Amino acid sequence: MYDVCVIGLGSHGSAITHRCAQLGLRVIGVDKYKPPHNLGAHHADTRMTRLIQFEGEHLLPLVEKGNAWRRSFENIRKPLFQEAGFLTIANKNSTHFDLDVQEKWAQQHHIRYERFSGKELSNKYPVFNFNDGDEAFLEPGAGFLKTSACIDTNLENAKKYGAECIFNTEVSAVDSKKITLAGGEVINARYIIICTGAYINKLLPDHISENIYASKQIVSWFKITENPVKHRFPKISPFVWEQANKDIFYGFPSLPEFENGQNPEMKIGIHTESNPVNPEKCDLTPSEKSISKICKTPTLIKGLYEKPRKVTTCFYTMTKDHEFIIDQIPDMDDVWVCSACSGHGFKMSYGLALMFGELFTQGSSDLLLPEFSLSRFK
Ligand SMILES: Cc1cc2nc3c(=O)[nH]c(=O)nc-3n(C[C@H](O)[C@H](O)[C@H](O)COP(=O)(O)OP(=O)(O)OC[C@H]3O[C@@H](n4cnc5c(N)ncnc54)[C@H](O)[C@@H]3O)c2cc1C
Repeated sequence: MYDVCVIGLGSHGSAITHRCAQLGLRVIGVDKYKPPHNLGAHHADTRMTRLIQFEGEHLLPLVEKGNAWRRSFENIRKPLFQEAGFLTIANKNSTHFDLDVQEKWAQQHHIRYERFSGKELSNKYPVFNFNDGDEAFLEPGAGFLKTSACIDTNLENAKKYGAECIFNTEVSAVDSKKITLAGGEVINARYIIICTGAYINKLLPDHISENIYASKQIVSWFKITENPVKHRFPKISPFVWEQANKDIFYGFPSLPEFENGQNPEMKIGIHTESNPVNPEKCDLTPSEKSISKICKTPTLIKGLYEKPRKVTTCFYTMTKDHEFIIDQIPDMDDVWVCSACSGHGFKMSYGLALMFGELFTQGSSDLLLPEFSLSRFK
């Protein structure tokens, strides 16, 4: 019997496997593929991370503590995190971003920040065609995590600490203290954690899966037509930008390390509150509507080609209240759900790993919050 069995070795599962093995637990992890890969929620190389949590102030300790653990094993020759700042651009009528509230939190939690408006904003970021009334909030200490490097490092360290990982094998059923693989083999463990991202509902009872849905998102890459240096970090920070019509664009500067001798380009996405889809059955082709939205990017950022070089589809895992679900499944002893991170969960992965480590070695964790509980859906 293993102490811990982790189902899904992507963003969260790889970090949890790493941490539990580091604490001396006997751990086994299983994944349908071989992460990192582009069939889950972690593809496309980069994920923003910041201390200002506009999704909810309660999430700050997970990120802060997770960052401290990550720094303890981060190899400076192969960094997992790049400090690049994080810029929120919005106007006073924004429905998603309140820059005054961000400033208040920054002051309360001693987080470094800068605010820009009007001419100041255009002078600082000349490649953006700002809208009238736009203001910006910069968290200079924020930046991005390199998703593949994070997952590779977690899996290497997990192995170093003695965890067993099974790849290219699907888990087909979960019960108290046991999981069943697609080939029929059974693995027994005291604690089981299901972190299979957008595919999670397949392994959950209906009364839980009815609260979780996958939502189709698109990500694109635009080539740069002129002076690529202006479009690169450190001139541009990763940003999120709410438009007057409430569309939310986000983007990453061109990163020399990902250019691989190709022309420089920027990664641009649109945060969409789209309808629930079944990730196993839905058409992965980006919709005409989403492509026409993404094609507006060159009107917002100077020096980009009119059409994206590539547009891909991936999935957020969502709940109606956009909050995580991290809880035990009722009637199944010590089987945990770790999911629904609604487009902002990568930065929590190290904090969640610490949380599960504490739960399984100490019986409780301050990082496990009532906000994550299943009982909120009753
Ligand atoms: C477009 C986009 C942009 C995002 N931007 C950000 C950002 O800037 N910052 C941020 O913090 N977060 C961001 N996120 C969210 C973040 O990427 C996700 O929260 C995170 O990757 C989810 O991790 P996960 O472990 O749940 O899923 P995944 O990383 O997808 O891992 C799930 C794993 O489970 C495996 N699996 C599935 N089914 C089974 C099965 N039956 N048996 C065995 N294995 C199985 C899969 O193969 C996969 O490896 C973004 C997400 C998207 C889609």
